[in-house]
Amino acid sequence: MTTAAQRRLAVNRHATAEHDIYCCRVNKEPVIISGAGPAGMAAAITLARAGRCVSIYERHRAVGSRFHGDLQGLENWTTAADVTDELAGLGLGPGFSAVPFHEAVLFDPQGGEHRYRSPQPMAYIVRRGDEDGALDRWLKEEALAAGVEFRFGEVCRTLPEGGIEAGGPHGAHAIGIGYLFDTEMADGAYIALSDRLAPKGYAYLLIQGGRGTLMSWMYDDFHNERRYLDRCEAFFQSRVGLDMKNRRRTGGAAGFYYPRTACKGRILYVGESAGFQDALWGFGMRYALLSGHLAARALLSGRPGDYDCLWRERLGRQLQAGLVNRWFYQRLGERGYNALLSGIDRALREKPDGRNWLHGYTAPRFWKSLCFPLIWRRYRARLKSAGRAPDRSPADCVCTWCRCRRKARRD
Ligand SMILES: Cc1cc2nc3c(=O)[nH]c(=O)nc-3n(C[C@H](O)[C@H](O)[C@H](O)COP(=O)(O)OP(=O)(O)OC[C@H]3O[C@@H](n4cnc5c(N)ncnc54)[C@H](O)[C@@H]3O)c2cc1C
Repeated sequence: MTTAAQRRLAVNRHATAEHDIYCCRVNKEPVIISGAGPAGMAAAITLARAGRCVSIYERHRAVGSRFHGDLQGLENWTTAADVTDELAGLGLGPGFSAVPFHEAVLFDPQGGEHRYRSPQPMAYIVRRGDEDGALDRWLKEEALAAGVEFRFGEVCRTLPEGGIEAGGPHGAHAIGIGYLFDTEMADGAYIALSDRLAPKGYAYLLIQGGRGTLMSWMYDDFHNERRYLDRCEAFFQSRVGLDMKNRRRTGGAAGFYYPRTACKGRILYVGESAGFQDALWGFGMRYALLSGHLAARALLSGRPGDYDCLWRERLGRQLQAGLVNRWFYQRLGERGYNALLSGIDRALREKPDGRNWLHGYTAPRFWKSLCFPLIWRRYRARLKSAGRAPDRSPADCVCTWCRCRRKARRD
């Protein structure tokens, strides 16, 4: 009797053999990509559409398994041009559902409400996972249509030269913990700034099309994640009134870094595996898609080393600005959040455009590039140690979310 796993293996082997024959016919070495997240799939699509043979390894059985149907925001404030136009120009959308959000409600630490609007969308709400309309499903279908071979359920242990590493974050510099649920609530985006709900980060509630995501996105005190999530739930219950049906737990980690190079030999690192993530607030999807596309362009040009120039040109200053912004943001505390929101209120009385304010606040500036080397010198060591530390014993581990301390306590 054949089991489901044996049948899947047989189908995989058949597909792989066909793909190998195709690669021989076009007489090109396949490009191996490790990780089928947005970064890996953006690279795969760009390469395959240009005629390259691509195999992409994904350790899970489906794309977007790290997320479970989460609603996420595709930020639309770091460039004057709309993010969907930028992605469309690269052939990366918008075939997935991207719902524009023009309004957000922010709560200060005392629960006071601040409502911000913008004529242009501040963000697009996208769904993650392998379901109709989700970003990951659409990228997978585009990749398959371009001839990419997916090897689901397979871990890529060693990448050959010329491969792309797209395996997601290495450390946990920020974590999100929350719930997904079905709801009859009206669409909306609610954000709360308070260290009681999300230390040095923010709590959010996104509702769109009968789905909801409630999350505490925190940068400190990860071991008390559960307590913060309970507080977030109580907070949004009291301020917005929650209706959560069929609720499931969700969450994950993000890692950000400013790498000296994203090339190791001829292996290119894309997305969060390179540290390309918005250090300020964790909006990493755009970095992932763009860096995947840029790495593919470097490979297609026959000069993989050019990738460093390409990502520095498009993403470098924004990444640096994100780290500088984070440095100051995490020093705000409750009084600082109040001052920040009062500042936004004042600025928007003159020009009521929330997107414009966000653009100005997060933009690279001359003073930020001056601050960056100083801040980075102090930040780098801290970021390096905030992840798993395999060379340390659990008792010495300074990691933040790897559970070593709990294990050490049990031992
Ligand atoms: C809870 C949470 C909420 C978020 N919300 C937002 C948001 O609202 N807006 C936003 O812009 N960003 C958000 N982000 C960040 C965003 O999701 C990531 O920045 C983005 O997904 C990174 O894409 P990636 O392709 O680099 O990595 P990933 O999406 O992590 O994909 C990496 C893939 O590689 C696979 N893999 C890893 N190692 C191997 C291996 N050795 N072999 C084979 N496969 C491997 C993994 O299974 C995974 O599927 C959020 C992140 C989290 C955790």
